[in-house]
This record gives sequence, C-alpha cells and structure tokens, in this order.
Amino acid sequence: MSPRYDAIVIGAGHNGLVAAAMLARKGKKVLVLEARTHPGGMLGDPEFRVAPLPYALRPEIAKALQLDQSMLYAAKPLEVLSFGADGLPVRVSGGLATGVDIATAEAYAALHTRLGRQAKALGAMLLETPPGLGKAKLSETAALARMALRMRLLGKTEMRDLLRIVLSNAWDLLNDEIGDGPLAGLLAMDATLGGAMGPRSPGTVLTLLYRMASHSPHGHGLRVMPEGGPDALVKALSDCVKAAGGEIRTASPVERILVDGDRAAGVRLTSGVEIASPLVLSNASPRVTLLTLLGVEHLDGEFVRRCRTMASKGMVARLDFDLASVPELRGGGALQSGQRLVVAPTMRTIETAFNAAKYGSLPDRPALEAVYDGAARRLSVSAQFAPHDLKGGWTDEAKARLSASVLSVLADALPGVASTVTGSRVMSPADIETGYGAAGGHWHHGELRVDQLLMLRPFDGAAQYRMPVAGLYLCGAGAHPGGDISGAAGFNAARAALRDGVH
Ligand SMILES: Cc1cc2nc3c(=O)[nH]c(=O)nc-3n(C[C@H](O)[C@H](O)[C@H](O)COP(=O)(O)OP(=O)(O)OC[C@H]3O[C@@H](n4cnc5c(N)ncnc54)[C@H](O)[C@@H]3O)c2cc1C
Repeated sequence: MSPRYDAIVIGAGHNGLVAAAMLARKGKKVLVLEARTHPGGMLGDPEFRVAPLPYALRPEIAKALQLDQSMLYAAKPLEVLSFGADGLPVRVSGGLATGVDIATAEAYAALHTRLGRQAKALGAMLLETPPGLGKAKLSETAALARMALRMRLLGKTEMRDLLRIVLSNAWDLLNDEIGDGPLAGLLAMDATLGGAMGPRSPGTVLTLLYRMASHSPHGHGLRVMPEGGPDALVKALSDCVKAAGGEIRTASPVERILVDGDRAAGVRLTSGVEIASPLVLSNASPRVTLLTLLGVEHLDGEFVRRCRTMASKGMVARLDFDLASVPELRGGGALQSGQRLVVAPTMRTIETAFNAAKYGSLPDRPALEAVYDGAARRLSVSAQFAPHDLKGGWTDEAKARLSASVLSVLADALPGVASTVTGSRVMSPADIETGYGAAGGHWHHGELRVDQLLMLRPFDGAAQYRMPVAGLYLCGAGAHPGGDISGAAGFNAARAALRDGVH
C-alpha cells in the first residue's frame, strides 16, 4: 500500500472539498480522490456546468474555512425574470416584484417575508447532526430544542401557521396567498426543482422553505450567487484544501472501500492501487457508496433493502445552447448575463409537466430555469421534468425531442431564440448518473421529501453521516440536509468525524 493518510475523501464535489478542507485545517493528512478530470462535482467543468446557478455556501462554512466572503457573495441579490402566460416578465429580487399589479406585489412581498422568517427558524437544523431515532445524544436533542425555540420565537400565530403549512403542498398555499401566475410559478419552481414532486405533492412547502433557508446567507430568502460563478467557487475550495496541506487527485476513480474487521481501512482505485486510511468520507451518492463501493457483504439485509428502495430517480435535464447573438426578451430589452430566467407561467404548467414525467414520458412543455453566460454566449437551461427512466430510453431522438420542446417554451420569453442557436448539448439524468456517479442522476443524490429528511436522510438507519462500518461517513448531498450548493453536508460530516476522533 502507498503512504497512509489520516483521511480519504471520495469525490471532489463541493461537499467533498468542504469536508476535506475542514479536516485538513484540523491538521489531518487528507487525500481527495476524484473520478473526473476536474474537481467541483456537479458544479461541472469548464466544458459543461451542470449547476449553472450555484447557490452560495453557508456563511458559517465560509467563516470556518476563512474564505473570501466578498468573492462568495456577490453584492447584489440575483435578479429573476419570471415569465407569465402573456409572455412578459415579472422582475423579482427577493420579496420585491415588479411587472404585476400592486395588490399581487404586496401579497407576494408579505408572503415572502413570512416564509423567510419561518425558513430561518427551520434553518437552525441545517448545520446540525439530526438526532438519532433510537437514542439521541444530548447535543443533538439540544439542536432540535434550539429549532423549536426559534419557532416559538416566531410568536404564537406564526408558529401555528408554520405547523399548519409545513407538510402541505405549495399549490394550496400559493393559490391562497397570491393566486396562480408567474410569481406562484417561480416559488413553485423553487419548491420542486430537482425533485420528483409537482406543486400539488405534499411536502413541497417544506422544500420551498429548505431552499429559502439554505440559500439565503443574509436571511429572508434573498438569493445570492458567488461572484465569478461556479469556477470561482471550485477554485476557492480547492485552494483552501491545498493551502491546509490536503492533496486532490483527479482522474482517480475509487473502485472499492477497504474494510479490515469492522472498520474502514482505505480505498482501492480502479487502477488497482490501494491507499490506507482509517477514515473514509464519501461524497458519492449513498447508493453508490454503500452498494457499489462498500459492498452489501458489510451490511445487514434490512439496511441494504432500505438503501435499494430509497427514492433517487432524477427528474431534471440540462441543456446548453450556444447562441450567435444576445437573446432578446419579449417586451423589449436583452437578457443580461447572470440574470435568472424562469419560464413556468403558472403552477398548473409545472404540475402538467410533472404528470407526464411521473408516467415516464417527456412533457410537451417542460418548466424551465435558465441563465445566459454572455462571455461564452451560452444559454444554460435546467428542464423539468425529464424522467431518469424515460419510456424508450434516452435515445438521440428523445434528446432531440426534449431540445425542441425546450426551445419552443423558451420562445415564449425569448422570441426567435431558436434561430440563433449554433450548437447544443443535452445532459439527461441518465448521463448525470454515469458522468457524476450520482445514483439516478438526482440533483440531491436522493429525493428531498418528508420521509427522507433529517433523521431519515438518506434513509432510516443511515442518518447522522456515520455508516455501519466504523470510520466510514457520508459527506455528500444524499446526507442531511440535502443538495444544492451550500456545503452543509460536507461541513456536518467532517465535524461528526472530528467529534468521533477517528484517526
Ligand atoms: C441538472 C442539474 C442542475 C443543477 N443546477 C443547480 C444549480 O443551478 N444550483 C445549485 O445550487 N445546484 C444545482 N444542482 C444541484 C447541485 O449540483 C448538487 O446538489 C450538488 O452538486 C451536490 O454536491 P455534492 O458535492 O454533494 O456532490 P456532487 O456535486 O455530485 O459531487 C460528487 C463527486 O463525487 C465524485 N465521485 C463519485 N463517485 C466516485 C468514485 N467512485 N471515485 C471518485 N470520485 C467519485 C463525482 O465524480 C463528483 O465529482 C443541479 C443538479 C443537477 C443534476
């Protein structure tokens, strides 16, 4: 075996990098092994950014890693253009909406503020290890108690309101509060994007609150992006690992987690090289980590069954369109680089797209999130819903069909855009699965829904980052609190390992 490391991190996704940086900064000799030729995981590489609109890292993490906060949090919140059925944009920045009537704008602002407060209360759990279902440690129960206290501090009326809506669906809440339209479509996109749920699915208020809590470092749901986008974030995290003495090896796929007795003992690469370490953190998805890299022989039957049956079929496809010219907005003006475009004119359009996908078909009119990169002259689109298990498979014909329907929906917002396309690429959930080792090609490495959250994430018996083999931890989006770019899972997993004192 080659020299021993204190810790090996499988995967250089942003969570793997956060975990590695945390451990290295505590003096551990850390090696990160990444299968792809670039670090960053689904933040992608210069040729294809899977996550073109990365949310920002949690400020607590940026502080712990002493990252440059001015780089991480662009001064301005992200401006969103949400297109209505009339093809005209409503402009939204946090709770401020223009392009709708005054009553709707006021109702939206009030709802946004209220949800922002509630999200902040629930957000107390994001950087905590959820308590165990059987026996919880005092520190874990204290975290729950802190969240309960924050909820109580909302006041009786608002706490009751939160308890009333939290497990319900976005459809009912948004219809009641602001009516269906481009603002409801935007919030319903935030509630459902990346998951296999439509706005009518129970639990979508919780996923909306999750997004508002995770990605609003300054509170109240204002979304910010790292200055410099995905590249800057990947560089900052990689530099942080290296500056603390950690090593990142790309093009180094791990084939197997090695076990000695009941303990993790290191990894074997597909090249056959074995590297020893008593501590292994995996940024790969839970199914890949446990069923492929570890192996079912180290797990009991019930644990394996739960892992096999956890919901993790991705529903989002990514498309890149190279454009000959800057896209023009319906109603006048050009789409600015870095603005977020949402084409989901009503919640009904999202639900209808979901209906097709849940039976394995492509929707005629997918719901879209897009961003234009002016320097690369590229429009990057996330299209939902595009089922991993598409009937007939992800053939070239199916991809061409999806591409055509995406361009047709985009034309509502950006008339004539199809005629300016000079090249395109489609990445299906099946491609994401093969390319990034995320089972099902799932945005969160596993569905973010009520029965796969907190002490049930990724599934009952596998929560709290620690796996049944001592010294093995999950540190990616499949673990609590889930995916998107936040770094929370990597941060929490590293802290759990450090607390356990494995080395
Ligand atoms: C289509 C799509 C669009 C998205 N858009 C956005 C967005 O705009 N904004 C946003 O915030 N989030 C977005 N996301 C979600 C976000 O990208 C993920 O939630 C996030 O990247 C998860 O981070 P991670 O570090 O946990 O895992 P990942 O980013 O998946 O990284 C895991 C890493 O582990 C590596 N790996 C796996 N197996 C092995 C192995 N055996 N050996 C070595 N390495 C291995 C992989 O190659 C990968 O680099 C999107 C996701 C998808 C699918």
